[in-house]
Amino acid sequence: MTAVLYVVSTPIGNLEDITLRAIRTLKEADLIAAEDTRHSLKLLSHFGISKPMISYWSGREKARAEEVMSALREGRSVALISDAGTPGINDPGAVLITEAIKAGIEVVAIPGPSAFLAALSISGLDTGEFTYIGFLPAKPGQRKKALERLAREPRTMVFYEAPHRIIDTLIDMEEAFGKTRQASLAREITKLHEEVLRGDIAHILDQLENKTIAGEYVVTIAGAVHQPGGMEEALLEIDELIKTGMGRKEAVKKVAADYGLGKKELYDKSLHGASEPGD
Ligand code: SAM
Repeated sequence: MTAVLYVVSTPIGNLEDITLRAIRTLKEADLIAAEDTRHSLKLLSHFGISKPMISYWSGREKARAEEVMSALREGRSVALISDAGTPGINDPGAVLITEAIKAGIEVVAIPGPSAFLAALSISGLDTGEFTYIGFLPAKPGQRKKALERLAREPRTMVFYEAPHRIIDTLIDMEEAFGKTRQASLAREITKLHEEVLRGDIAHILDQLENKTIAGEYVVTIAGAVHQPGGMEEALLEIDELIKTGMGRKEAVKKVAADYGLGKKELYDKSLHGASEPGD
């Protein structure tokens, strides 16, 4: 084989999801660069593949990319794999791929599973336009801010989340996007305990109360619906809430979530038209 970097997708749970081309490429490559060599050995031995391996670990991605580049420069072909799914999608890969492209080395995709695409395809939400977000910040404050920034995003959004944070993240999503925003929660796709919950965020949270929280999750959220006059109506509603005695900040927060509008813009606009200066 000549120097080619193959970016090979591997199963996200069910080994039957590996493609024939992925097996052939892994068998024919001179070297396999794996996110975790021990983890990938199980997959490779299942398919009777025995090849020299090199660790391509995210903690030292730059240094590892250099090592893999040396092999490519020597004319060897390399198959890059991650622990599951598609390399470079919330997995190491980007540094090596960029370096290979810069060095004029051919980079070839061997496509296959990716959790976000599988989850999106069965979400029941609009797939015409979507945006992949991946993991939100783990710190609650940063996560809330990130979600607030996405409140007006009109495209379907796809998130990855760890099981120990899924409830908190959904609660934050409910606050940022509103209770009635449509969503889908896919768990353990292609695995034994595969399950998809669909409905509005509040309904999904209700359903989770009786469920074991474990495994891997993808959250898909419908984009914000912008109706003509949305801002006007939102400002009127804020005024109404203030008249009932609610503080401006609280009113803005509520209306921003219900209308899928940005809190800051709404706050500024509501102040601009406010009859009570300094409120
Ligand atoms: N490279 C992978 C891909 O292409 O999907 C993603 C790797 S990322 C480190 C791992 C995250 O992907 C998990 O925390 C989970 O959010 C999601 N994920 C991976 N496998 C999954 C599965 N079988 N079911 C649901 N989510 C999964």
